Amino acid sequence: MELRCTSCGKLVEAEKYWIRLKCPACTDQEIIRCEKCRRLSVQYKCAKCGFEGP
Ligand SMILES: [Zn+2]
Ligand SMILES: [Zn+2]
Repeated sequence: MELRCTSCGKLVEAEKYWIRLKCPACTDQEIIRCEKCRRLSVQYKCAKCGFEGP
């Protein structure tokens, strides 16, 4: 399985600083954020419930 940033689609496997979290709305879908998107607070969208958040 490829680990890609939910916001920008970049592969994060080779990177050090990225986080994996559960969608705060449905607590089911995993959200992956690369360092850049975290730093810039880029919006993400849950693929399951459509929740959008920073
Ligand atoms: Zn990203
Ligand atoms: Zn969700």
